[in-house]
Amino acid sequence: MVVSITGATGFIGRRLVQRLQEDKHQVRVLTRSKSKAQQIFPVNKFPGIVVAEEPQWKESIRDSNAVVNLAGTPISTRWSSEIKNDIKESRIRVTSKVVELINDLQPDSRPSVLVSATAVGYYGTSETQIFDEKSPSGNDYLAQVCREWEASALKVNKDVRLVRIRIGVVLGKDGGALAKMIPLFMMFAGGPIGTGKQWFSWIHLDDIVNLIYEALVNSSYEGVINGTAPNPVRLGEMCQHLGNALGRPSWLPVPDFALKAVLGEGATVVLEGQKVLPTRAKELGFSFKYAYIKDALKAVLSS
Ligand code: NDP
Repeated sequence: MVVSITGATGFIGRRLVQRLQEDKHQVRVLTRSKSKAQQIFPVNKFPGIVVAEEPQWKESIRDSNAVVNLAGTPISTRWSSEIKNDIKESRIRVTSKVVELINDLQPDSRPSVLVSATAVGYYGTSETQIFDEKSPSGNDYLAQVCREWEASALKVNKDVRLVRIRIGVVLGKDGGALAKMIPLFMMFAGGPIGTGKQWFSWIHLDDIVNLIYEALVNSSYEGVINGTAPNPVRLGEMCQHLGNALGRPSWLPVPDFALKAVLGEGATVVLEGQKVLPTRAKELGFSFKYAYIKDALKAVLSS
């Protein structure tokens, strides 16, 4: 299979590229910067990889069986009004571009599947509600971003199988929120953040990559699929496990301000969570490698 990927140079994309190449699929990296992508994917380690900047995206997509769309300005930053705008615009712009390029192709040269990222922020936040794919969208800023992001993907031609994956907080060592939280936990202690009652819907990096992979190869994957582990935890529990795993006392609270200092307003993703269940993935028979936070954290920290 030939797969074109936007955001391939990012935290999830890098692992996805590796996984696809291990299984002998051909990867095309759709990027804003060829030189950056070539540094991340040197040809000696990634033989056959093709890197394309925006003017060449159309050619790449034309020759592809599948497209994965992961691009967007990072959320874990300080949200100036300019960055807030960029968080939304970058996702809508890239998704709309990819969809336009796919739709412009002759039907027989269109990729058969588009897997497009979105986020559990779609549902808004709550300490009491439980969300699955049938739940309505929330009202806050991130919910609005996710709705518009998904709406851009939904414009793809109906003969292309579209999978929208609403991704939870991805746990891995080399990126995402956890990489920023670990030094903080080492500096303070491993206790809860805020009340600790907020929900934390997480997924291990290997599982989100496997879920995207399945969505590419398995034609029964279609529509919205939550990319979260089957057992979300309250933030207090997550912090306790993280503290234990790091050998830090788990009774001393990590102050909100410290988390906001490293994650900016992006900390709201962690500080005001939602309980999201992967109902569709389970119905589809997806097998999670890491169903429990304790095992996921142990695996991340020992990698
Ligand atoms: P990263 O931030 O690691 O990477 C995203 C990629 O997007 C970058 O490598 C970059 O690729 C591209 N990008 C960055 N800024 C812009 C911009 N302004 N305009 C266009 N492209 C840009 O993301 P992740 O791998 O962590 O996540 C992938 C997707 O999944 C994102 O859309 C994210 O919102 C979503 N998601 C991730 C979660 C997580 O916990 N990691 C949780 C929920 C959703 P290049 O420079 O090559 O163009």
